[in-house]
Amino acid sequence: MTATDQFNFERELSENLRTRFYINGEWAQPKSAQELELVSPISEEVLFRLPAATAEDVDAAVRAARSAFDSGPWAATAPSARAAALRRIAAEMKKRLPLFARVWTAQVGAPSWFAERFTGLAAAYFDYYADLISESTFESERAISTGRVKVIREPVGVCALIVPWNAPLVLLTQKLAAALAAGCTVVAKPSPETPLDAQVLAECVAHAGLPDGVFNVVPAGREVGDWLIRQPMIDKVSFTGSTAAGKHIAQVCSDRLARVSLELGGKSAAVICDDADLDAWIANVAPFTMPFSGQICFSQTRILVPRKRHDEFVDAYTTATQRMKVGNPWEPDTIIGPVATANQYRRVMDFIDIAKREGANTVLGGARASGHERGYFVAPTVFDNVRSDMTIAREEVFGPVVSIIDHDGDDDAVRIANDSNYGLSGTVFSNDVERAERIARRIRTGNLTVNGLQLDPSVPFGGYKQSGVGREGGPEGLATFTETKAIYLPADSLK
Ligand code: NAD
Repeated sequence: MTATDQFNFERELSENLRTRFYINGEWAQPKSAQELELVSPISEEVLFRLPAATAEDVDAAVRAARSAFDSGPWAATAPSARAAALRRIAAEMKKRLPLFARVWTAQVGAPSWFAERFTGLAAAYFDYYADLISESTFESERAISTGRVKVIREPVGVCALIVPWNAPLVLLTQKLAAALAAGCTVVAKPSPETPLDAQVLAECVAHAGLPDGVFNVVPAGREVGDWLIRQPMIDKVSFTGSTAAGKHIAQVCSDRLARVSLELGGKSAAVICDDADLDAWIANVAPFTMPFSGQICFSQTRILVPRKRHDEFVDAYTTATQRMKVGNPWEPDTIIGPVATANQYRRVMDFIDIAKREGANTVLGGARASGHERGYFVAPTVFDNVRSDMTIAREEVFGPVVSIIDHDGDDDAVRIANDSNYGLSGTVFSNDVERAERIARRIRTGNLTVNGLQLDPSVPFGGYKQSGVGREGGPEGLATFTETKAIYLPADSLK
């Protein structure tokens, strides 16, 4: 541990979490000596090494999940009993929220205020799905001319849940809570940069007392993930990550028509109408333009500004952005920490160079953050003079980089917002809520907020176009972990 990194892996994590994998209801010995390296984004030093799962570990996890699904009690457990188990997991998570927040900061430099604020959402998914299913029978009945039909929603089966490093806990629990609520069994593969969140979650599941094999964790990289998605015993892959990997996974799964849902990248637009109150926009939306150094899929990275208010807006926004403290993410007043990895740092810097070469004007930043010789610190960067056809307006940067694009009224703003291969999130800001809603209805993305940005476990989240397939959260998120069966019953069975 260095002075800049404040997490003590040996002391804060149990031996099981540091050295084993949770497979078939026990902490299993890794099958090889391969390791994952956790590198500090603050100091660039290797902080800790944990075992990396191999194909053999994956095989054991998949067999356990298959057997738990086919022969175990979980899929047939009454929804009310599954709900009780979900609540026990939520309760275990709530005991560990400070630890979850700390591992997020330690692994990828999420600023501590941000990590503390959003880990609670992860537990909320379990409580939400517990409430949703506790009264549900997963069945309905329809009368038809020849009799009646029972329509039954059954669990889809064994699910591989694959998540990225940026919000590793919340993204996993969105999937896991819905999968368990549906009666599925699970093999979770966290990303190699952030194995710990799933390890702590496994401890919660173990304490909550689920049947063996219902939840299994194999922390590993891309190659082992690829092995996992190819296993015929996996019925469904639920993936969150880059659009490139999502397309590949969809192709692999299409071979055996395994079910797939994909939560992918975004290039979301924040539309500002000409009547907007800029102070209110700065307070309610600006924090979501580069949250966690812009490494959140719903970051509002294209800001569409009324041309005639361009200067006024740029002044207000850059002043607000300059006030955000860039620094060590463990310090409570740091708003922008480092980006997560060396790769991410290079990628963001490359996009900044391309933007400059293509003629975008650097209003703020555009370089390494000053005063940070080490670590993956990118200065908060704002470009204007950006056109929709520029790389910086089209590609997901996943860094603290925002493009300002002028618009000439509502129709033009809608046109620009829709001029994207992505369709994940968006915001509209206006003093006239009905006008803002009309604009929101015309933007082809999965989620929009008028005059702010919100997320709630009861509301579906997901993308249009290349931002994904399927939804997470809400009843829609539960539905993606079910198959629908219809049983026609004869007329004389009518009571
Ligand atoms: P990534 O696609 O490189 O990796 C994501 C996960 O998939 C990792 O666990 C990785 O090991 C695994 N993986 C990669 N290739 C695989 C393969 N062929 N088979 C199986 N597993 C594979 O993405 P990343 O760089 O870790 O994450 C950033 C991306 O995630 C961004 O594009 C971001 O927009 C996206 N994201 C989307 C959402 C959403 O809800 N839509 C949320 C968060 C992040």
